[in-house]
Amino acid sequence: MFGRLLKPRAKAPPRRTPAAKSPARTPPRPQVRALAVDGVPAPLELRLSPRARRLSLRVDAARELVQVVAPAGVGDAEIARFVGRHLDWVRGRLAAIPPRLPFADGALVPILGVPHRIRHDPGHRGAPRPLAGPEGPELRVGGGAEFLSRRVREWLKAEARRRLAERARAKAAGLGATVTAVSVRDTRSRWGSCSAGGRLSFSWRLILAPEPVFDYVVAHEVAHLREMNHSARFWALCASLTAEVDGPRAWLKAHGAGLHRYG
Ligand SMILES: [Zn+2]
Repeated sequence: MFGRLLKPRAKAPPRRTPAAKSPARTPPRPQVRALAVDGVPAPLELRLSPRARRLSLRVDAARELVQVVAPAGVGDAEIARFVGRHLDWVRGRLAAIPPRLPFADGALVPILGVPHRIRHDPGHRGAPRPLAGPEGPELRVGGGAEFLSRRVREWLKAEARRRLAERARAKAAGLGATVTAVSVRDTRSRWGSCSAGGRLSFSWRLILAPEPVFDYVVAHEVAHLREMNHSARFWALCASLTAEVDGPRAWLKAHGAGLHRYG
């Protein structure tokens, strides 16, 4: 869930002459620092970017902060006024961030969309295990309480990688294509990617999403093994590899950011 506002480009953006010549091979890095602006109910991060042409404002739901990108040379007072003019928008965006959902004893975690109650059982041996509990599905987790969150997360990542790899290889086999490697990451900007060499990468958080969504993202990346684009041919191929495309895409748009609130 990213919100972004742009200020129209100023007619004559203020420019500062660089004090020293910077070598062309090293592009100037944006400077990042905190900035206090009255009335902003979250940390505000200011990035001074030599490449920025105008002020822009963004609410980063994952990091729960407000980010302002400003061209080099714009003063703090002007930045504060810009933020001040958009306070309602900032507050609305921050208020819309769903609450965090830590992996704690008694909390619910969806596994392929099915809610499982996390049950800490110090006597449970081995890896966390999903079970049919008396009140519904559970995820039984052993070990010390201080490691519970980490164990759940590590198990979910391993489970995601195993299932994604299995699903991707099965779909690729149907196309006569080869998946050379499958890895999982905690990417925020994309759910999956496919390299020219047949390496697929996914967000481990897809294990939390409903099965049709999980299946669609796998189909999408596998279709890229044949079509490295988003052409009509790509979408036709993608649709042939999964039951539903539009529903899962809409689901990710509406609920994808919520998956980043877990753990
Ligand atoms: Zn794609």
